[in-house]
Amino acid sequence: KQPLVEVKGLKKFFEVGHGQVLKAVNNLNLTIHKGETVGLVGESGCGKSTAGRTIIRLYEPTAGQVLFNGRNIYDLKGKELLQLRRGMQMIFQDPYASLNPRMTVGDIIGEALDIHGLAKGKARQERIIELLRLVGLNAEHANRFPHEFSGGQRQRVGIARALAVEPQFIICDEPISALDVSIQAQVVNLLKDLQEKMGLTYLFIAHDLAMVKYISDRVAVMYLGKMVELAESFELYDRPLHPYTQALLSAIPIPDPEVEASRQRIILQGDVPSPINPPSGCHFRTRCRYAKPICAEQEPELRDMGGGHMVACHFAGEVGR
Ligand code: SF4
Ligand code: MG
Repeated sequence: KQPLVEVKGLKKFFEVGHGQVLKAVNNLNLTIHKGETVGLVGESGCGKSTAGRTIIRLYEPTAGQVLFNGRNIYDLKGKELLQLRRGMQMIFQDPYASLNPRMTVGDIIGEALDIHGLAKGKARQERIIELLRLVGLNAEHANRFPHEFSGGQRQRVGIARALAVEPQFIICDEPISALDVSIQAQVVNLLKDLQEKMGLTYLFIAHDLAMVKYISDRVAVMYLGKMVELAESFELYDRPLHPYTQALLSAIPIPDPEVEASRQRIILQGDVPSPINPPSGCHFRTRCRYAKPICAEQEPELRDMGGGHMVACHFAGEVGR
């Protein structure tokens, strides 16, 4: 397995006034391999979108590095930066907000080609149609405007635009959260097909574990700016070791009514604390039913519990399940 994206000690802090600092992403370490999909999951405000935007350099970091094909992206300037912009793309949660309503779909996709000088004239038109077909739309759609499409179709346009520049790595920031349940699977399947065809690598951001289950090879769980657990997908769903992950998983309904009835739901106590002033020690301790005094005093480090299953909990392997 070859690393494509290596996130090292990444921090992104925001000054929010009165000398207060929001530590949206606080020391993130993550390696994403070529052809892999890593799911990044957490409740809103946990820092997952900020992490995505910093990894792709839509934001400059407070500290840390992101290596893309071995080069630190924050060192790049001019032509090299433009080249990076081709290599890394983003698909957004709300395709409607991210598509210019006054441009036709053909122009939206064509604009991406123009920025990087990828095709002109007839070749450009052919490429636009090819991209539309690739995402399950057709040539005739090129002359229409975003408002003429359904939510699922708009997301397909967003995907076509991202693919126009032939990226290696795509960050999908909650690409299906705003879609009807019936459409979600279609978009996930499309992303999977495209990955196979084009050898793409994904970071797939979502707010619940059910959404990333079928697409992710590995899943990372974030809580208040920190990664608390990372494991192979099947391992994480089978044997979650962090109390937060256990609670998130127990909230996913199981279709079998008998299994569902015999299951114990873990209700998270309290609200998510403010990320501006997170609890001392383990940030999760105010909502953790296993918290002990040490949890307030010492921050748990991420530990490898075997086979790359990383967990940040003083009592990993001892509590829950
Ligand atoms: Fe709960 Fe303590 Fe583990 Fe944090 S370190 S998850 S508070 S048991
Ligand atoms: Mg978000």
